[in-house]
This record gives sequence, C-alpha cells and structure tokens, in this order.
Amino acid sequence: KIRTRFAPSPTGLLHIGNARAALFNYLFARHHGGEFVLRIEDTDRERSTQQAVDVIFDGLKWMGLDWDEEPVFQATRQDRHAEVVAQLMEKGMAYRCYCTPEELTAMREKARAEKRPPRYDGTWRDRDPSEAPEGVPYAIRLKAPKEGETIIKDLVQGEVRVANAEMDDLILLRSDGTPTYLLAVVVDDHDMGITHVMRGDDHLTNTFRQAMIYRAMGWDLPEFAHLPLIHGPDGAKLSKRHGAQSVVDFREEGILPEALCNYLLRLGWGHGDAEVLDREEQIKLFDMDGIGRSPSRMDYVKLSHLNGIWMRRADDERLTALVMQRLEQRDDLDHDETVRARVLALMPGLKERAKTVVELADNASFTGLRLPLTITPKAEKHLGEDGKKVLAGLEEKLAALEPFTAEGIDSTLRAFAAEHELKLGAVAQPLRAAMTGTTTSPGIDLTLAALGRDEVLARIRSVLS
Ligand code: GLU
Repeated sequence: KIRTRFAPSPTGLLHIGNARAALFNYLFARHHGGEFVLRIEDTDRERSTQQAVDVIFDGLKWMGLDWDEEPVFQATRQDRHAEVVAQLMEKGMAYRCYCTPEELTAMREKARAEKRPPRYDGTWRDRDPSEAPEGVPYAIRLKAPKEGETIIKDLVQGEVRVANAEMDDLILLRSDGTPTYLLAVVVDDHDMGITHVMRGDDHLTNTFRQAMIYRAMGWDLPEFAHLPLIHGPDGAKLSKRHGAQSVVDFREEGILPEALCNYLLRLGWGHGDAEVLDREEQIKLFDMDGIGRSPSRMDYVKLSHLNGIWMRRADDERLTALVMQRLEQRDDLDHDETVRARVLALMPGLKERAKTVVELADNASFTGLRLPLTITPKAEKHLGEDGKKVLAGLEEKLAALEPFTAEGIDSTLRAFAAEHELKLGAVAQPLRAAMTGTTTSPGIDLTLAALGRDEVLARIRSVLS
C-alpha cells in the first residue's frame, strides 16, 4: 500500500515550494488509494512554536489537503532515534567521535586552504576507543562506506550517483545527545512505513547520506522523487522581492485555494494540454511521469488568470462571504446584512470582471459606502449640468417604478434616453457616478436593483443637493 508524507519544518510560513510538495504527495497517495500522512519536523525547538505548527495545519486545510492519521511530531521521537543509533553502534556501523569544535574548525580550514571540500577526516573512525579522552563529550558518526558508489533511482531525476569517497562520516547524534535531521528523517520514514518520498531537489544530497543510513540498518529504501524547485519569474531563487511566496501571502492577495493548487500542479507537472483541473481530475490524472525535470518559473500573471477562471466557477455565497471578510476590515464602510445582500445580488456580474478576491472586494465596496460619496475626478465629469439634469429626471421615474427590478430599471433608462434623445451611456454614466463615485460598476440596471430603491434615491439626492 502506498504511503506518502509531508514533513515540513514549522518555520512560521508554508512556502509554496513545500505546499507543492504536499500537493504532489497528497495526489499521488489518493491516486493510488494509499495514505498521506503528516510529520512535523519540530526538532529545532526555538523556531517550532504552536503558532508555526498552526500555519501548516491551516494552510493544508485551506488547500483541501486532508491528511490521514494523527500528525507525528518528530521531537517526541528522540528516544527512538537514539535507540537506532545504539543499534548502529552495536553493529559496528557507527562510532564515537571526540573531536572538539576547535579541531573540527581546523579541519575545515585546512580543507579550504587546500581547496578541498570540507569533510570530516575520519580521525576517530579507526582509532581504538580505549584512546578516548575522559569526560570529553562525543558525537556519534556513521561509518559510511568509503569505496564504491551510492546510487539513487529517482523517479523524477532518473539514476543519480555519487562516489562514496566524496562523502564523509555524517553525525547521527550530536554531543548533546540530540539526533541530527538526517537520522531522524530516516528513522521516522522507516517507522511510518513511507513508500514514496517526494520533496524538493534541494534535498538530493541529503538523500545520498540518508541512503547510507538505511543500508547500515539493513532497511529497504523508499522510492524517491525529487521535485525541481520553483524559481522567480526571472529565473533566480524565489524570494520576497518577486512577490507572494507563502500560502498565507497568496491567500491575502485574494487567490482561491483551488486556483493555487491548480496552478502549483501545472507548474511542475503536465498532462497533455489540460490547464484547468479540479481536485477529482487532479487525483485521477496525477502520475510521476508528468513531473518535469527542470526548475519552474513562478508566473504571477498566469496564476491570477487561473484565479479568475476559478472565481467564475465559485459559488456566489462563498465569494460573498470572502468579500464581506475584507469589507469588514474597513471602517469607512457599512457592512451589515443589507450590504451583504447587495453584494450577493451583484456577485454574478462582479465575478466576471475580477481576477482576485481583493479586486472583487474593491469592486463591491461601493455597496457599503456612506453618504455623501467621495467622487473621483473622472466620475465628477459625468456630474456636470447635463448629468444632474439626467439624474433629476430619473429620480422621479425611478421613484414611481414598480416593481423595482433590473428589467424594469433597464426599460425605464431606455425609455428616458429615447425621450430625451440621449445615448444610453449619457444616462448610465451619471447614474454610475452617483451610485459608486467612480466610473465602473457591474451593469447599471443590476447595480441599481442591488442597491434597492431607497438607497438609489438617497444617492441621487445626495449628488443633487
Ligand atoms: N523538513 C524538511 C523541510 O521542511 C523536509 C524533509 C523531507 O521532506 O524529507 O525542508
């Protein structure tokens, strides 16, 4: 049975590179009817706050990546990690290293001077343990193979290999008794029955070292799939200056989770020319073969385009709730039930024009404006003498219109335009300016209907007064 995992370090944000790894692990497990589990790698006790853990839980839930079983917290497993190290010692696959920090620094400096990569020189590997100094703290190192090669058959990168002579004896247990990351990951993946490890290809060198630990323990290796990283639009490492880079950032920018998932999937994986895929299709189609080998470039424009598509597909009630959350943060607006009803009524029109929830909220904000409106200079141009005349004439007609529906409003405006030999725009623009203080809104008939007669008349009178 296939078991994948997502193993983030709680650092305070969920980077989209990691979010994509989570998505791929999730889809692969679901595609095969397997399990997707979560492990919080919280061994760095300073950074690992409950808040940082919640960022991960919330992010995954928001993306709809539900995991199986209770999450495993790596820090709770230190005894087990130490137990495995003890087993390696018994097998003669590990040894105590008494080098002091000063000796290790000297080793590194010597290597640098000789222009060699810094490696542990094996001082304590073959030394008789009886020579051990007393009362000096020691680390435990893996007795790594010196000859031959370590080969990984990676499901994305193909066969990758490294000469064992290039690698040194990695530390398993630090001198303070805490397990290293390399050891903990191997023990946990083994104990959790993980069959496939999918993670960023920045972990590839770790994988060679981890493979040595698996072999020393006589454990089967899981399958590995190393995913190319996500770069910025310019090809450089993705960073803040490029824009949003964590799941929370995208959420704040008004991206819907289904759009983000769809985008992240398509960014590193392809299936023919399928662009817009819902979760069901993603699960059905996902496979390792479709994962690309080269780094992908983040394309914010494409993401917002996809987001526009997903917003048009999204339920109006849900979008209205998202818009209201944003409007509620503005104290220059009303955001009561009346306003909510207006936004909901306008949603079909609003969502056709916006690419993010932020834009949607901006375009919907006129529904909560208080009188008198602030009028933009562009809108002011439509409220000159002619515009006001139009508004005054319409005030009467709209006051008498029964019922006050979009259809009725539309015919009223057309009749008024015909009667005064005006173009429809010459009628709609002053109205739009009076309703929104701007020159844009959804269809004017829908806008008026959503605001309701009382509010429409109040806004007209406020401009005329
Ligand atoms: N905790 C590691 C990270 O956040 C991932 C470890 C792994 O996937 O093996 O980069």
